[in-house]
Amino acid sequence: MGFKEDADFARFLSMGVYAAGAVTHDLEQNHGHRIVELDRCAKANKVWQTKIKRMRLPDLMCVDCGRRFESKGKTKLEVKLSDSTLPGRAWRDEGMRPDDVFAFARVNMKTSPVSVSNIVYVTRQGLEDALESSKEGNRKSVSEGSEMDRTWPMWAPDYAGEVVAVDDGLKKVRVTKGTRTYLYGHGKRWAAFHTLAAGTAFEAGRPVAFCFRVADSVACAGEGSWGWKEDLLSADEDIRFPAVKAARFLGTEPVEDILVGMADDEASDWRLRLEAHASLAPTRPASVAALLVLAERADSAAEARMEAVLSLSEIDTEEATEALYSIAGRVESAVPEEVRAAAAWGLGAGARKAPAKLMRLVNDPSVLVATHAAAVMPSYLPQECLDELLDWLRADDPRRAATAAHLLAERDLVAELVNALRTAPEDIRRLIVLALGDASREAVSGLLGRLDAQSRAGIAILWAKDDDWLRQPDTDGIIDALKLQALRR
Ligand SMILES: [Zn+2]
Repeated sequence: MGFKEDADFARFLSMGVYAAGAVTHDLEQNHGHRIVELDRCAKANKVWQTKIKRMRLPDLMCVDCGRRFESKGKTKLEVKLSDSTLPGRAWRDEGMRPDDVFAFARVNMKTSPVSVSNIVYVTRQGLEDALESSKEGNRKSVSEGSEMDRTWPMWAPDYAGEVVAVDDGLKKVRVTKGTRTYLYGHGKRWAAFHTLAAGTAFEAGRPVAFCFRVADSVACAGEGSWGWKEDLLSADEDIRFPAVKAARFLGTEPVEDILVGMADDEASDWRLRLEAHASLAPTRPASVAALLVLAERADSAAEARMEAVLSLSEIDTEEATEALYSIAGRVESAVPEEVRAAAAWGLGAGARKAPAKLMRLVNDPSVLVATHAAAVMPSYLPQECLDELLDWLRADDPRRAATAAHLLAERDLVAELVNALRTAPEDIRRLIVLALGDASREAVSGLLGRLDAQSRAGIAILWAKDDDWLRQPDTDGIIDALKLQALRR
């Protein structure tokens, strides 16, 4: 996949990330849970090509009560899950126990900020009980593993109102609709009929009638209600894994020996071993070292290297930062380019920011590594980084100079760019003018008087783009794209 397709996919993933964020917020603020990610990527939309086959577990978990949550965000609110006839791939096979909760939400990506509304919580058991009323969607080709969608119908009016009366026997619900009332009945097609209670007011888009029972309560059972230490000793990896994850938040000290034993146990699943180190790593440098070895050593699988890097990125210690820097800098080694890029990403987007280290990576010979490092440089640059960028504009190295010019222009540091024009070598001056053309026109306008005639002329030409109707965001390249569709034989 190219980087443009990645950006499109990231936009699609963002919906799930926003939903997971809103569900986390609701579960913590309104229901008393303490939520952590069970799936490391539930709340990040970065697209990586190295695919990591994770444990079959839901996105989120509460470390106090141990309840697991799977959040689903869509542009339209619907209770829909992907399903399959293949063993282990059915809608319920995601490590969801009967009392664990699916959270469905509507995500509106068109508002700013993005809004998430109408969260509907249903336990796995709730969906199981209503299976008869659920509908199979179109089955994709057999080559795709008989993947399909399964929808549990519900009624969500597009107006606000209040439930007036519920008639269970006839499976009907009467609601107010403006100054009148409306009687809704869906009884025949649904095996069971559930509604909001009479007297409940609802806003537009909120489901009023369901073929399933909405979770009665998703309140946290409270601190200490989950025997996570016992779970650590379970023979079942699906039970042990969440307990290992939770240990980091609940305190690893009393279970350190168990975790160390698990990390060293070569008979265990690699993901479990890695997670044991990841939970120990914030307080145990030896585990950081183990994750570093896993990422760098010659015989590691790419997915294990990647997961080691992502877990190191979560740790706010100097050792973890040094480890990421070591991995990122492994030019021409067994460490794949994308793993190096992920390590660079962790130094800017991870738990501990290290802009001075990123400065050593933004000119890496690998375009992938260099661009990842540049993309996560902080928007406010520390003075030492700024000074170094200005040095790059004085030397005759076009690659470094271009990096510096871009980083400065993105931050609208136009006065610095204009000053650099005075001392830059001739070919570097042109790169600086190009960068000034990218900076905000408003910021550059005020400084035009300080430019020599040649640079001013250059910027004037770059700005002419704004007057060219075929170079606007929605028209740039349109004629070439149309010509490609002129084929007729
Ligand atoms: Zn809880």
